[in-house]
Amino acid sequence: MQKGARDYLLKSKLDSNLLLSSMRSAIERKQIEQTLRLAQFSMDRASELIFWIAPDAKFIYVNDVACRTLGYSKQELLKMTVHDIDPNYNPKNWPKHWKNLKRKGSAIIESQHRTKNGNLIPVEIVANCLKFGEKEYNCAFARDMSEHKRSELALRMSEQRFRAIADYTYFWEVWVSPKGRVLWTNPAVERITGYSIEQLKQMTGYPMLLVHEDDRETIAEAFESALNNSSGKALEFRLRRKNGTIIWADISWQPIYDEKGSSQGHRESIRDITERKQAEEEVRKSQQMLQSVLDTIPVGVFWKDRDSVYLGCNQHFAEDAGLNSPDKIVGKNDYELGWKQQAEFYRADDAYVIKTGKPKLNYEEPLITPDGTQLWVRTSKVPLRDLSGNVIGILGTYEDISEQKRAEQTIRTSEKRFRSVVETASDAIITADSSGEITFWNSAAEDMFGYSAAEIIGRSLTSIMPKRYREAHLKGLNRLVATGEPRLKGKIAEFEALKKDGTEFPISLSIASWGIEEGMFFTAIIRDITDRKEAEKEREHLLRALELKNKELESILYVASHDLRAPLVNIQGFSHELSRCCNLIHSAIAAEKQITMLDREAQNALDEAVPQALKFILAGADKMDSLLSGLLRLSRLGQAALNIKSLDMNEMMAQVAAGMEFQIQHARASVKIEHLTPCMGDAAQINQVFTNLLDNALKHLDETRPGVIHIYSKSDNNQSIYCVEDNGIGITANHQKKIFEIFHRLDPDKEGGQGLGLTIVKRILDRQNGNVWVESEPGKGSKFFVALPKA
Ligand code: ADP
Repeated sequence: MQKGARDYLLKSKLDSNLLLSSMRSAIERKQIEQTLRLAQFSMDRASELIFWIAPDAKFIYVNDVACRTLGYSKQELLKMTVHDIDPNYNPKNWPKHWKNLKRKGSAIIESQHRTKNGNLIPVEIVANCLKFGEKEYNCAFARDMSEHKRSELALRMSEQRFRAIADYTYFWEVWVSPKGRVLWTNPAVERITGYSIEQLKQMTGYPMLLVHEDDRETIAEAFESALNNSSGKALEFRLRRKNGTIIWADISWQPIYDEKGSSQGHRESIRDITERKQAEEEVRKSQQMLQSVLDTIPVGVFWKDRDSVYLGCNQHFAEDAGLNSPDKIVGKNDYELGWKQQAEFYRADDAYVIKTGKPKLNYEEPLITPDGTQLWVRTSKVPLRDLSGNVIGILGTYEDISEQKRAEQTIRTSEKRFRSVVETASDAIITADSSGEITFWNSAAEDMFGYSAAEIIGRSLTSIMPKRYREAHLKGLNRLVATGEPRLKGKIAEFEALKKDGTEFPISLSIASWGIEEGMFFTAIIRDITDRKEAEKEREHLLRALELKNKELESILYVASHDLRAPLVNIQGFSHELSRCCNLIHSAIAAEKQITMLDREAQNALDEAVPQALKFILAGADKMDSLLSGLLRLSRLGQAALNIKSLDMNEMMAQVAAGMEFQIQHARASVKIEHLTPCMGDAAQINQVFTNLLDNALKHLDETRPGVIHIYSKSDNNQSIYCVEDNGIGITANHQKKIFEIFHRLDPDKEGGQGLGLTIVKRILDRQNGNVWVESEPGKGSKFFVALPKA
């Protein structure tokens, strides 16, 4: 209830009390009646509804306003009760109400009155309890509150509407007092800042507490200006949420004035723009990316409008145009750039693309840079279209192919060089593709095979090979295509090839392969080896003949040494017999005097010359015998069958040393044998080799120092090498080679060997793929090396 109305009603109540007490104190009835009339007159004209009510709820007085408002006549109303017009009071609760009123004296009640036509009107009632004479009355002043209620409702609704808008608006709205205090905020505060409405209202550090340090200065300035009633829009800043996370927001603000125009602070409207910022950042990044792609690709990129005026380009293009940055190109045309002479051509291409709407792709053209260098470029121009598909200009790209052009030139030169080499080569050089089809054929190939290049190119390689190789060749070709590696790569193979006239001839062949875009190719270099093969055949023939001759010699040697020994034995035997006869004659002469008659000469011959001659004959025969038996041994060596197997050389050397124990002791030598690696050989003959070497070492020790013989071995590639080292007399350099020759002896007068030992050693090792050699220093000793295949 409005304050004015209430005061009025209370005042009326006081006035009526005053009136009644004055009535009571009046003596004159007339006076009273007059006064009453006056009162009634004034009450009839009051703006409130006035009811005088008896304890039984009946109206005993109603004023005109009451009648008018409720639609009843005075007579009608005076027959009615409170219950008839006030739905809040019924006969049941009336006595209680009366009692309360009596106790309190007066009360203000909100209720409703029903009009005659059934409408309910809201009323505010000031009820007063009165005692007049002995009777009690209730004087009620009622005021029609319909209008008031209507405006109150309207206000409430508008406030609700405002709230509905303010509370659900997506933006965070804040009403800040002129002193900077938060007066009101909507629930969006929670979504955006994480603080509740209450927390925000009580926040002392508003708004700085919510602002990222780096943006505080800007926001402080804006806040200050908002407090001074300025307005601002979409100021971006970083907002620190309650949980510490940072989001991007923007703020707009306007001052608020009341109806009288005095400042009520300002309104702030804040929204979360993080997503937009992120999107902007994405766009910025992708633009940057696009720019850096444009600037780093080795291709010039430019775009022009329909009039061939440049709208933009990349760094590469800007540099070729002599500009230090791409934005300098905007607004220029080709006449203003380094290539004015070509401007017409370039613009004609632009015009074609713009007019036809068709791209012009990959055409080569010259481009002159500002420093006068001429480049060769490969250009493409495509139409640029707007959203509706209209051609609004062109986009051009070009790549510098000068290097490629140069490379092509180099290739041409090297191709020429290659051709001249290939054409002058004496070997046939043939190239075929992966299906085996001949793609290249040099002139040597023409001479060698009898086919001209024109005749053979495109035909299969099988045309130049004998039938028996063809299947293997096709298999090899498939394998080559699958693996990319020719089986013969890096090797030289020998085959027979087929000439045009059908004759076969031997060739040596090497193959190289390579893959290019068109596929796999291989080149064969072929040499006619007919001459070499013939020479080889000749050599083999000679070797075989030599071998036969050797065999023949060996058997002659055998026969000679074997058969020569028989007469020799006779010579030896008969010489002995002769010598025995001489002795007999001697003794007979001594006994028989007549023979003393022999002349002196004969006597001498018998005594000296004959025995002497016999001695020489015998010595010679012995020597011949020994030589012949040596030769026999040697010739037998060539005939003996070999039994090659792995030999435990430690075991063998122990046997050899044991067999020569007597000689070792006799020579007072020490023999040291290391651990020896095994080898392959014939046990009996290899035993003979080392027996000979150890025997020689013992025979040729130096008497002036104790003999030391050292036997050791090492492994070398696929051989086992053994050394028999002595500290004996050594061999002079000029003799070192000869000692392996037959019958060679350094000191033939010295008794002992026949100069055959080392010859036999060499012969044995030759037959068993071995070798023997010597290193020696006279006066210091010798090292005899024996090499044999590894076990
Ligand atoms: P022989 O059967 O007479 O010993 P060899 O063929 O074995 O003949 O030796 C030939 C010659 O090589 C010998 O007469 C000797 O002069 C020389 N000779 C061989 N072995 C040695 C050695 N270990 N030290 C010095 N001289 C040697």
